[in-house]
Amino acid sequence: MTSLCPHCGSAHTVPQRTGERVGGSIGLVTGLAGGFSGALRGAASAAPAGPYAAILGGLVGGAVGCGLGAKVGCTVDEHILGNTRCQDCGHTHSPPRA
Ligand SMILES: [Zn+2]
Repeated sequence: MTSLCPHCGSAHTVPQRTGERVGGSIGLVTGLAGGFSGALRGAASAAPAGPYAAILGGLVGGAVGCGLGAKVGCTVDEHILGNTRCQDCGHTHSPPRA
């Protein structure tokens, strides 16, 4: 979606994607933590492959969490923040709602 800069009228505007970055980071951290703790609990009850299960669980949890977080953040960007930055004058604005 392209929107014109309300300040200088330029069409050179880009979305800031603040929510997507923040959401991805939060999802990554919570996913890693959840994955590791789940894998550690499983490893404690059973396997000799404990450390590997913990690492694998953490990586999978992190990847899933990051993807989910970015998705949520992207929705936040589109519907709530809507920050768009003009590349010509640096003005930040919200694009008109469709
Ligand atoms: Zn501008």
